[in-house]
Amino acid sequence: MPHDKYRVSTIVLFLLAFGFAALGIWCRSYNALSLFWPCNAIMAGLLIRFPCFNHRLSFPIIYSAMVIADLMSGSSLMISLGMTAANVVFMVIAKNVLLSNSFNHAFSQHLQTLLRVFPASLLAAAGCAAVGSLASQHYFHEDFVKGWISWFCEQVSTSLLILPLFITLPRRAELPQLGSEMRQSSLLPLVALVVSTLTGIGVGGGGSLIFPLPALVWCAISYPVFFTCLLTLATGITEIVLVASDMLNIQGTDDFFRIDSLASARLGVAAMIVSPLIVALSTSANKRLLARITQRADYDYLTGALTRSGLAARLDALTQGKGRQHVFFGAVLVIDIDRFKSINDTWGHAAGDIVLAKTAERLQQSLLQKAMISRMGGEEFLILIEGISQPRALLLAERLRQSVERNTIMFNEHDLSVTISIGVSRLTLTHPGSLDESIKTADEQLYIAKSSGRNRVSPQFVL
Ligand code: GH3
Ligand code: MG
Ligand code: MG
Repeated sequence: MPHDKYRVSTIVLFLLAFGFAALGIWCRSYNALSLFWPCNAIMAGLLIRFPCFNHRLSFPIIYSAMVIADLMSGSSLMISLGMTAANVVFMVIAKNVLLSNSFNHAFSQHLQTLLRVFPASLLAAAGCAAVGSLASQHYFHEDFVKGWISWFCEQVSTSLLILPLFITLPRRAELPQLGSEMRQSSLLPLVALVVSTLTGIGVGGGGSLIFPLPALVWCAISYPVFFTCLLTLATGITEIVLVASDMLNIQGTDDFFRIDSLASARLGVAAMIVSPLIVALSTSANKRLLARITQRADYDYLTGALTRSGLAARLDALTQGKGRQHVFFGAVLVIDIDRFKSINDTWGHAAGDIVLAKTAERLQQSLLQKAMISRMGGEEFLILIEGISQPRALLLAERLRQSVERNTIMFNEHDLSVTISIGVSRLTLTHPGSLDESIKTADEQLYIAKSSGRNRVSPQFVL
């Protein structure tokens, strides 16, 4: 890392650690918010998400920033050193579990890593709670087990709420995609989440904590993973604050077990958010897999043209779309590369593949957007153009022929340029067999073009 950049990232890291620690201390003075110490999870998230912060001085810098923030709030030095050590233990464990070997910096694309948040949060919270409650026992003579449980519950729930957000935080290049996914999404899951949370407040009791769960799972299926993580964070914090401020009464009228019920609320929230995260992961993995499979099935790998099944799917979508029966009228062009076999025989199959790909590319470049080009097999292509008359189709075919003829294809300094022959027919898709009939007619014209010398166009109707 260049020296200047290193210095800037060091200063920024110091300020962030100081700022989040100060925010946590400020929150402590408000009863409801004293339940959160988000600084640990946020700092661990920053370290794993932004590699520029992750260097050998990171932890000493964070440690000193947090100790200074604590001292400024009036803590004594020894207590500050002990408590901050517990917080840094959290960050060290979380960072190491999350960043271990296969977890590289391109991890936002490897969302499975999100699953690692669970062991990372559990281990980091356990380690942090151990050091923290030892320090509490030493300085405040508090019960170790009680301290450990309350510390652990708080850190686990806060970490499970915050870390997923950092892992799924979109990169700048991913923002347009995220925006378009959000625009296409329905608002209903979000409305259901708000309504079910409010219903929980009205009904009360331990079970009311789980009321938002179905809506969260619905959100997970409907929205991008990052947005689901934001919603789980918002829901989790809302529930914990509501329980702490007695607006969500999960313990009936007896206040005796207040601490236990808060711990239970935290664990309940932690358990709840596991489900929508897993659903979000699997939904996004399924979507991507489906897109890849569709791409492979619908497009020919070598030429990028539609496969036969891809063409059929396109035609179906065009003619059966949105409940209307759309009549397709236009032209069919069947194109065959002339004497292609001799290229394979003379220069090898790899050279033949290059000629095929370059010719397909040339055809695609010379076509209108709405034309559909499909590889029929071998060196034969089928082009469907909607709404074009036969004279225009003939002119277009002639333009394609000339364009391929002018296209120079070089392979190992040899000129492998080719020509094509084209058969043209008209197409009106009135019944399932009409495309096959038009292809057959265009094929007959192609045969005529070949037998009358190749590198020419033969239309069904002469002008
Ligand atoms: P014509 O002018 O009559 O069309 O002659 P041609 O040599 O082009 O005709 P033919 O149909 O005999 O040859 C087609 C060749 O295309 C035969 C086959 O080996 C080759 N071929 C089919 N698919 C591929 C492919 O994916 N890659 C390569 N390199 N060759 C292929
Ligand atoms: Mg051929
Ligand atoms: Mg052929």
